[in-house]
Amino acid sequence: LGRSSTLDDGKLISKSSKSRDKTKNKHAQPKVAANVTELIGDTPLIRLNYLSGLTGCEIWAKLELFNPAGSAKDRIALAIIEHAEKEGKLRPGFPDKVFEGTSGSTGISLALVCCAKGYEAHIVIPDDTSEDKVRLLKMYGAQIHKVRPAGIADKNHYVNTARRMADEIGSSNENCRAIFANQFEQTQNWLCHYRTTGPEIYTQMPTIDCFVTGAGTGGTISGCATYLKEKNPDLKVVIADVPGSGLYNKVRYGVMFNSTEKEGSRRRHQVDTIVEGIGLNRLTLNLEPALAVVDDAERVEDADARYMADILVQKEGLFIGSSSAVNCVAAYRQAVKMGPDHTIVTILCDSGTRHLSKFYAMDVDKDCKIANELLNITVGTAFV
Ligand code: PMP
Repeated sequence: LGRSSTLDDGKLISKSSKSRDKTKNKHAQPKVAANVTELIGDTPLIRLNYLSGLTGCEIWAKLELFNPAGSAKDRIALAIIEHAEKEGKLRPGFPDKVFEGTSGSTGISLALVCCAKGYEAHIVIPDDTSEDKVRLLKMYGAQIHKVRPAGIADKNHYVNTARRMADEIGSSNENCRAIFANQFEQTQNWLCHYRTTGPEIYTQMPTIDCFVTGAGTGGTISGCATYLKEKNPDLKVVIADVPGSGLYNKVRYGVMFNSTEKEGSRRRHQVDTIVEGIGLNRLTLNLEPALAVVDDAERVEDADARYMADILVQKEGLFIGSSSAVNCVAAYRQAVKMGPDHTIVTILCDSGTRHLSKFYAMDVDKDCKIANELLNITVGTAFV
């Protein structure tokens, strides 16, 4: 894959796009599902034609937003719940309860799996969570518990509250079992990406040279990168990070905080960006496997992600969420660093529809860094 590119009707077209035919399975059967959980996973991989054409690389993205509740978190919700069933902590057919502290996609995915399996989803959220998300959770039938925003060390932090509620309910009622899903520390999270997302990527794109994605719990990057690196030890693994998160420094300098920068003074464990869902200032069990295989990190600012999101919708027709836009900026920068003829795969975690009121409300800065990087490669170093 990935040879040179030519200019055709003003557009950069990679000659290697012919090789796309090889990846098409013309006889693939449309899915048939007995229930919604069977539609989780097996997501498509799509070529990012514009970014591939500009760089002379093959840049592909896994469309995790095609999962039934709209994000990669469907996979871990199903894995955590089915693991609890195997351990007898949840019983199919009983109105057992699943608790999680999250203001993100995991709550929505847990609620969907609970609907399908007949459990009750209880989602604890900070009371400043956007009304859009609260409505979505309610539509999926979740019980919402709002708490005041607090630091993770505080017993009233939403994660700690969810854990406590699960313990209290589980121990107080003989007839009702309850689990705390615990996406940060429950290793079924990264293991499910190791068992499903990673192998799917390898099947879809065995020539992959580089895997790029962000980390929120670390589950996606740990699972995919560990699997892919087992298949190809020369594979490059890159964490796409955001300002205020310690991951970039951890990878580049071996420490989570860099006292010469502002990170140290920020509230620990909280990443204060418009981009949602990625960035970490602590080591979690689901991040640890990634740290053993990661080779590089890219730090992407909100403005660059916002600009890239517009490129993706205008050039590819892909309306993506904020962390997906960060991934695309990082994938593009890696392509430029690695040079033509490399194959890079990244993740499109969720859709733009979940990010209208915050990320897409941001003005596009036409003079941001990535705008200039894209402009310069077009006029200066396009591979024609
Ligand atoms: N993107 C979005 C929108 C997310 O909600 C998350 C998870 N918080 C991620 C990316 C990162 O995934 P992971 O938790 O597997 O690191």
